[in-house]
Amino acid sequence: MGKLSTLSKAALASMILGASAYAIEFITIGTGGVTGVYYPTGGAICRIMNKNKKETGIKCTVESTGGSVYNIKTIKAGELDFGIAQSDVVYQATHGEGKFKDKPYKDLRVVMSIHPELLTLAVRKDTGIKSFFDLKGKKINIGNPGSGQEATVKMLFENCGKLSLDDIKVEQLKAAECPNALKDKKIDGYFYMVGHPTANFKDAANSTEIDLISLKDVPAAQKLVEEKPYYAWGTIPAGMYKGVDHDTETYGVKAVLVTSKQMPEKTVYLLTKAILDNFDKFKKLHPAYKNLTKEDLLKGFDHNILHPGAAKAFKEAGILK
Ligand code: GLU
Repeated sequence: MGKLSTLSKAALASMILGASAYAIEFITIGTGGVTGVYYPTGGAICRIMNKNKKETGIKCTVESTGGSVYNIKTIKAGELDFGIAQSDVVYQATHGEGKFKDKPYKDLRVVMSIHPELLTLAVRKDTGIKSFFDLKGKKINIGNPGSGQEATVKMLFENCGKLSLDDIKVEQLKAAECPNALKDKKIDGYFYMVGHPTANFKDAANSTEIDLISLKDVPAAQKLVEEKPYYAWGTIPAGMYKGVDHDTETYGVKAVLVTSKQMPEKTVYLLTKAILDNFDKFKKLHPAYKNLTKEDLLKGFDHNILHPGAAKAFKEAGILK
């Protein structure tokens, strides 16, 4: 009898655990390298979401990944629920351009836009590199395969008559590996499309003397910003990173949270509503969100690909008509 009752207690416990585990919906957000801004952004979204876990039944987790292109391709493959990606890469994915040439991903949907990112070129000061055109013959990291910066940098060089990728020694390390590689002289500089401030450039500036190079004088960058709806100029202010005491003007995009058309409306609605309802709390979770407004969350992408669950939350909040 005693044995039986123990057994039935265990059976009951497993039934209860089984039932509650079944009720929970798990969502994963693909981000980027751990020293960038995507990774803490995924963390910030999950933190806000998981506070309401009991009411929503959703448990959010974050994954560090190779970046924008990887995230979109993995969502397309059905192996990732959400991902953060650059707005230029989102555009190219839906239009079948760049890394998605002739393979448009029509079911890609945007949940919301987040922080601005700038294409940042950091070099070791002792290389003497002062402008983009000084990169000739230098060891430059353009971004790991699957990263957003790799896609953006390739497009920049493709549009540049004067300097091609064949003129530089191309490296493809992950962004998190770059500060050390720069210090150890394995690379002379690296491109990173990222929000500011970021731990990555703090690491670099604290371990060796660095400089940030303006891209404002590069004709190919000027042409791209003029022609492409997703590019805009921005400034990394003087003093943001140790030893860089001048403003750095360059161009960039928006970091955008994406998912697939197949993601249930309710899940996307609850996620979007959680961020809108806790916007002030969310903003405090990373300094790259400093100037963000709720209206900014709808900028930098074509509203035709806004996920209906997100549209519902934005409408309820009175931000979308
Ligand atoms: N923009 C980068 C990418 O798409 C990631 C930046 C970050 O991790 O903050 O790969």
